Amino acid sequence: MAAEGSINSFSGRRVWVTGHRGMLGSAMMRNLETSGATLLVAGRAELDLTDAVAVRRWMEENRPELVFHIGAKVGGIHANATLPADFLYDNLMIQTNVIDGAHRTGVEKLVFVASNCTYPTNAEQPITEEAMLTGPLDTNIRAYAVSKIAGIEMCRAYRTQHGSNFVAIIPPNLYGPGDNYHPQHSHVVAGMLRRAHEAKHAGAREFTVWGDGTPRRELLHVDDLAAALKYVMLAPTTHELYNIGCGHDLQISELATLIAEVVGFEGEIVYDRSKPNGTMRKLLDSSKIRALGWLPAVDERAGLATAYADFQRRHTALAQEQAPHRF
Ligand code: GDP
Repeated sequence: MAAEGSINSFSGRRVWVTGHRGMLGSAMMRNLETSGATLLVAGRAELDLTDAVAVRRWMEENRPELVFHIGAKVGGIHANATLPADFLYDNLMIQTNVIDGAHRTGVEKLVFVASNCTYPTNAEQPITEEAMLTGPLDTNIRAYAVSKIAGIEMCRAYRTQHGSNFVAIIPPNLYGPGDNYHPQHSHVVAGMLRRAHEAKHAGAREFTVWGDGTPRRELLHVDDLAAALKYVMLAPTTHELYNIGCGHDLQISELATLIAEVVGFEGEIVYDRSKPNGTMRKLLDSSKIRALGWLPAVDERAGLATAYADFQRRHTALAQEQAPHRF
């Protein structure tokens, strides 16, 4: 029997946000600050999510009622291509411990954040939830994708076998404050913001974009996704999987132009074709979440400006501390 039923409010509820220091986790924490929830968090030093015994013990002691399972090992196309074993191992361990722990400790509802790379590369666009497991995956990110597919399947299996109210969601490419700006391991928006910024400040004539600029990506501001996760937690969800997208995508070349404008870089945009394009397109069909009433609120240009402001703030802070570029 499929689990459903709505949660009336967060007020007085014990809510666990895993990965609360990451980009989405901290957006979730900001969003829930005024919700009246008792927010439970466990930093990495306190709880290793890959440790099954520790996770179970922590859940038994802290008794979360609602769980946003956001914590995961994440990274861009390069990180995924070079560290596949880490992505597979960490994510399988973490989500198995959290999802099974949620079942065993009687969590009322769990929302699991998966990824748009779980869909086949040849999926019909826009991609509906039904496209899951219908075709081959992008080889650059296959290990990570398989780990997230296992998490989605866990939510489905626990719903079927135990009646658990566990729901998985799929976001498009996320961006916004708190992003990882690592030169190689970042996602597209953060990577481009950094290189456009560095090109501008070095007085360079060119700013380099990976791939040939023809793939398309759908973007979502992290504050929009946090609001959507809250929405999904409260809504009477009847499906085990929801796409949560803004509904349109941009060509990488268009995104590069937009980012150059936001950063104020006036030189030329060039393409490094030795870097992978990855999947050509992965626009989500988000009609199921729209039918529940959720809509994105952040405009792309304004959203990119908030991301750039965050980059500048952190970049300056780090430079002042003379710390190595480690973000
Ligand atoms: P993906 O959506 O899972 O493939 O992840 P990314 O956020 O890493 O986006 C990758 C797409 O953006 C590919 O088409 C890349 O070729 C392109 N891209 C262009 N410049 C960059 C960059 O600086 N960093 C990253 N990660 N991707 C870039």
